[in-house]
Amino acid sequence: MTDITLARPAPAPGITEADTVLTGDRPTGPLHLGHYAGSLANRLRLQRLCRQFVLIADLQALTDNAADPGRVSRNVMEVALDHLAIGIDPARSHIALQSAMPELAELAMLYLNLVTVARLERNPTVRDEIRQRGFARDLPAGFLCYPVSQAADITAVAATLVPVGADQAPMLEQTVEVVRAVNRLAGDAVLPEPRILLSATPRLPGLDGQGKMGKSAGNAIDLRADADTVRAAIRRMYTDPGHVRAEDPGRVEGNVVFAYLDAFDPDPAGVAALKQRYRAGGLGDMAVKRRLEEVLNALLAPIRTRRAEFARAPDEVRAILRRGTEAARAEAARTLDAVRAAFGLVRP
Ligand code: ATP
Ligand code: MG
Repeated sequence: MTDITLARPAPAPGITEADTVLTGDRPTGPLHLGHYAGSLANRLRLQRLCRQFVLIADLQALTDNAADPGRVSRNVMEVALDHLAIGIDPARSHIALQSAMPELAELAMLYLNLVTVARLERNPTVRDEIRQRGFARDLPAGFLCYPVSQAADITAVAATLVPVGADQAPMLEQTVEVVRAVNRLAGDAVLPEPRILLSATPRLPGLDGQGKMGKSAGNAIDLRADADTVRAAIRRMYTDPGHVRAEDPGRVEGNVVFAYLDAFDPDPAGVAALKQRYRAGGLGDMAVKRRLEEVLNALLAPIRTRRAEFARAPDEVRAILRRGTEAARAEAARTLDAVRAAFGLVRP
């Protein structure tokens, strides 16, 4: 199969083959362009440089989807297919299923003793997401605690590097605090401190320009979207409401079409020239949108083809998940032993 080329290869400062990467996605829907720009493009690059684990975080997804667990189980396969479609290579990256790794639950249970409710409530991403979901006293305890479960995921494989979007920075901070607390207990550096790897586009806006593109926000272009869907999404994309006629000067800042060109157009000089003409007046939205359509279809066409190939082989995809999960569990068992020892737990 041909390699997918990266629109904007992210820099890889100080990354060596001694690094271990862990990252993950909640199977709450198919993956979208925000995932690609914020994290997946880095995963493609990192799998060539070091060991990588990609976790399908179905337990975390249940923390705000317990009323509709079918949504989560249905999307496990979709998220696995999305990874294979973009070129995540199971020979280089282990794709693992969170709920099939009991070690993670045990680690999370132990870490919960090292984190206060006040600290969880102060986590800015948790606060935002609680507000978005309108949770009050009905907030599921599991949702409040999901940063702890994420610390379990990251430390389980002794990850040193976590390529994620900007919304995940507070999670990494909490994980580092957990790592330090465990190491203090152990009197030794039994867990490595992970560092975050942000991409050049750490927060891709949604089609409406209102917030980040998100699966749960209904403002996304999925990686599996066909050409008609992409065209329809681009047509309704937020631009500059003051730019009515082509000859009017337009604003590039906050203009979603330009944000996507910045993220995905492999020709930055061309984008700079378009911006200049748009600002000066004389360039209509339609012309810029046509360029974006071309750029996105060039990115997505090989992804669609690959996705269709893997979708025809569900047994193969399940076997990939099974093997990835086994590899991750072997690592997690080692971490769990070290953490249990730090807590002074003995096996009878
Ligand atoms: P949900 O709405 O269910 O939380 P989501 O779209 O936020 O879904 P996640 O599974 O929570 O997706 O995120 C997976 C990874 O993708 C994380 O590393 C996250 O930071 C990154 N990511 C998600 N959306 C964006 C975005 N719009 N821009 C950049 N990175 C993103
Ligand atoms: Mg999210």
